[in-house]
Amino acid sequence: MAVQKENGSVSIDAQNIMPVIKRWLYSDKDIFLRETVSNACDAITKFRMLHPDSGEEMQVTVTVDQKKKTIRISDTGIGMTAEEVKKYINQVAFSGATEFMKQFEGDDAKEKGDIIGHFGLGFYSVFMVSDKVEIETLSSEEAAEPVHWVSQDGMDFEISGGARASHGTDIILHISKEEKEFLEVWKVREVLKRYCGFMAYPIFLEDANAKPVEKEVPVGDEKNEDGTPKTEKVTELPKPEKINDTDPLWLRNPKDCKDEDYKEFYHRVFMDFEDPLFWIHLNVDYPFNLKGILFFPKLKNDFGTHEGQIKLFSGQVFVADNIKEVIPEFLMLLKGVIDCPDLPLNVSRSFLQNDGYVKKISSHITKKVADKLNSLMNKERETYEGYWDDIAPFVKYGCIKDQKFYDQVKGSLLLKKTDGKYVTLEEYKAANFDKTEKKVYYTNDEKRQAASVKLYTDRGIDVAVMNTLIDGNFMSFLEYSGTEEDRVSFARVDADVDGLKEESEEGKDLDADSMQSLFRSALSQENLEVKLESLGDPEMTAMVTEDEQMRRYKEMSRIYGERFPMPDRFTLVLNRRNETIQALAGRDPKDETTILLCQQIYDLARMAAQPLEAEDITRFLERSRKLLGMVAKA
Ligand code: ADP
Repeated sequence: MAVQKENGSVSIDAQNIMPVIKRWLYSDKDIFLRETVSNACDAITKFRMLHPDSGEEMQVTVTVDQKKKTIRISDTGIGMTAEEVKKYINQVAFSGATEFMKQFEGDDAKEKGDIIGHFGLGFYSVFMVSDKVEIETLSSEEAAEPVHWVSQDGMDFEISGGARASHGTDIILHISKEEKEFLEVWKVREVLKRYCGFMAYPIFLEDANAKPVEKEVPVGDEKNEDGTPKTEKVTELPKPEKINDTDPLWLRNPKDCKDEDYKEFYHRVFMDFEDPLFWIHLNVDYPFNLKGILFFPKLKNDFGTHEGQIKLFSGQVFVADNIKEVIPEFLMLLKGVIDCPDLPLNVSRSFLQNDGYVKKISSHITKKVADKLNSLMNKERETYEGYWDDIAPFVKYGCIKDQKFYDQVKGSLLLKKTDGKYVTLEEYKAANFDKTEKKVYYTNDEKRQAASVKLYTDRGIDVAVMNTLIDGNFMSFLEYSGTEEDRVSFARVDADVDGLKEESEEGKDLDADSMQSLFRSALSQENLEVKLESLGDPEMTAMVTEDEQMRRYKEMSRIYGERFPMPDRFTLVLNRRNETIQALAGRDPKDETTILLCQQIYDLARMAAQPLEAEDITRFLERSRKLLGMVAKA
């Protein structure tokens, strides 16, 4: 029986909701393509289930017609009968509409974009960009009649007999003037690639107004005189362009994937020319369904500016990038895809935050990452060390952000030493702690602090290189968190001399107080702290140190742009074993040579720790020349 012409209103609720949808979704208009194309794919899946042996080729074609100002989304799916159109398009859509309105009043627009699909309103997103929408559909049921549905505003519709000759559905959008951007083929391509790039059936993009192009084609098997195949010029319309990869790598069994496949996927999807370092293929069926691949890119030290990208999919349909509720924040430095078909992705963000299921997924991902790092560390230590510089910022950031992650990977945290070798904290402790005050000595600038580093390495004490942006925070983290036995303190090589002291009788009778007065007076620094110690190297006259905590505090206040920066507070440590220091004992603080010597000792000590300021350098050079003259004349 032919479809009777019928007019009606979609539903009472719709009167309220259409303007609201239009306004709320303002920022995310392009999802109309995701909604219609995924409906089309669903319709194909349904057809396949009902007719598993049909052998027909299934596809979705999106046709942009700039002249007619339409976009047509055509599928070869199950189609709809007139009854189904009434039921699914006209009524069901708004079953949750009132609830939708109530629940999300006052929330931000982005959240509303996410919930659209949840309430079965996906189809109605087309009204955000259209003045008029038509449906031409033919159900795959036997003896079904084609149906035509049209609506100007999503509220009033007209339903009548249609024109479609084969099962499936065409959704025809008459794009409004304000949204004419969507009549650009490049724009539609971009949106389709983003949202539909991995959907399960082939999706083609067609330009209805494409000009025929000239092509050379072979003429049968004919050959030219020179033996080359004979060709002729023909003009033909460009073929519709396939948009998607229907067989995404993450859904394949990891056993069947080769390294080359992962690299190719990575280059293509993340447009990164460099190879990833390594990757984790997530493949979980139970207790939840989770598939995905996480790639570790080369981070180097530009971690501050690095942006990762984790694409979240729900059953091959792209949902969004970097949804922090599902993916632990520190993993956002990675690149990857996560596909959770069971996730209630269309509900609001605040719901996701409190959802136990989502938390489980998130901690599962974290654990997988930790497992991978630990297995590399334990089974392929050399390779792992090779990766360390690149992944360290990410791993350290993860530890700071997530105590659980820290607990899982703490055995795989490495320290890079100044000799280029890598050790774990435990290894560092075992090799050095009996020689020092149980601190990890480090440098954050190997060149500038070279002299101080050498003092330690000469004594067989390892110095760690902590020169990335995150290291300051990471060291504080290790100092304050974790169990008693995990805790460890760090000291920069110029922070103190605890690790450089050595028992000795030399200069034992020097008096610390009078040495302090002598230097204070000679340097005209009333408050300078001067210490007398027995240092390992008798050649060494003095060192300047700056308390670790004070220095860090100062650095922090500099980073935060404190208006009154804290002054430098150095301590001058004199080596009582050194002959020059011994010779100064008991000398007149007013004597010119004594003053010159004290100043020279102080400057030399400072220079070993860091370069002097221009003025100080000038004074140092003048004084050096003077001292040379004095020695020459003596
Ligand atoms: P949802 O997809 O969340 O159910 P939609 O508003 O997107 O909500 O679609 C409503 C219903 O309309 C679908 O469930 C489906 O039954 C029907 N429908 C939409 N598009 C098609 C299509 N291309 N082919 C067949 N049925 C469709």
